[in-house]
Amino acid sequence: MNKPSIYGLTLDQLTAWLQEHGHTKFRANQVWEWLYRKRVTSFAEMADVNKECTQLLADHFVIETLEEHLKQESSDGTIKFLFRLQDGNLIETVLMSHKFGLSVCVTTQVGCNIGCSFCASGLLAKSRDLSSGEIVGQIMKVQRHLDQTKQGERVSHIVVMGIGEPFDNYDNMANFIRTVKDHKGLAIGPRHITVSTSGLAEKIYEFADSDLQVNLAISLHAPNNELRTRIMKINRAIPIEKLMKAIDYYLEKTNRRITLEYILLKDVNDRREHAVELAELIGDRRDLANVNLIPYNPVDEHSQYQRSEQESVRAFYDTLKKQGISCSVRMEHGADIDAACGQLRSKQIRAAT
Ligand code: SF4
Repeated sequence: MNKPSIYGLTLDQLTAWLQEHGHTKFRANQVWEWLYRKRVTSFAEMADVNKECTQLLADHFVIETLEEHLKQESSDGTIKFLFRLQDGNLIETVLMSHKFGLSVCVTTQVGCNIGCSFCASGLLAKSRDLSSGEIVGQIMKVQRHLDQTKQGERVSHIVVMGIGEPFDNYDNMANFIRTVKDHKGLAIGPRHITVSTSGLAEKIYEFADSDLQVNLAISLHAPNNELRTRIMKINRAIPIEKLMKAIDYYLEKTNRRITLEYILLKDVNDRREHAVELAELIGDRRDLANVNLIPYNPVDEHSQYQRSEQESVRAFYDTLKKQGISCSVRMEHGADIDAACGQLRSKQIRAAT
């Protein structure tokens, strides 16, 4: 049987595990530093940790479980990595370069069961959740790539927006966040981490009550139930009213701003009247909400959807602004590679089958 990755343990869990096996908290801190500051790939490299401890760790864990299968680089600096997991499954991770730093978009599941009608990943049903070690492993792979190619540069932001519904893999997603935030390790600031959900209301309450304290984005994509159900079948089970109630709880509990993601699909949800309806839906929440407009990246799998005209994007944006809604248009990354989420993975899987 494959050994699990040690990246799956938070610092508290690693400390408890080592203490149970006769080692000290000090030792756990040393190991943590070797993992996340010096970023070694084998326990034997942990020079100041005694042999007994490194052997114990090597008997129970591995460090890396991801193998690079493919890498696509865009002229704008975006890099798409396709990683192979120990069981042979492929997952996608994206590194993006911005003025404010380097962000990584991570995957949380192999496939996805939410089935958004515009998404290349939604066609490949979920086969399993990723462990937190596999999610942390994506950041470590990308960080090591930076260590080798751009010394001194570090992953500064994380978006949990890759393939999968993070709230459908809640505990592993939460441990992943605890690990990457830890100030003795990667120390990625909580304000630089965003988790995106398709709107699993129950988990929004749990997230609001948790110690995680990172940003939340909601994939809204439509201003009314009829349209949202057409685009995202999850809306049948969790309609907009239920979602907005959970959002209200989150806003009141955390007082943090929330992002509402809105993918613009030509002649489907991109008309001026949709923008007006969206502004009405946001209503009093406008002080704590930002709408992120995302021009659609067409994929072969969903030929029924096209990209909105630029004038429609502009008109939608202007209409929201006029209604006092804060909004932005997402910059496109990696337009010259397989830019849409899950596109590279689904192409590879199709080619292999
Ligand atoms: S958009 Fe996200 S939640 Fe929806 S099917 Fe794709 S991966 Fe799943």
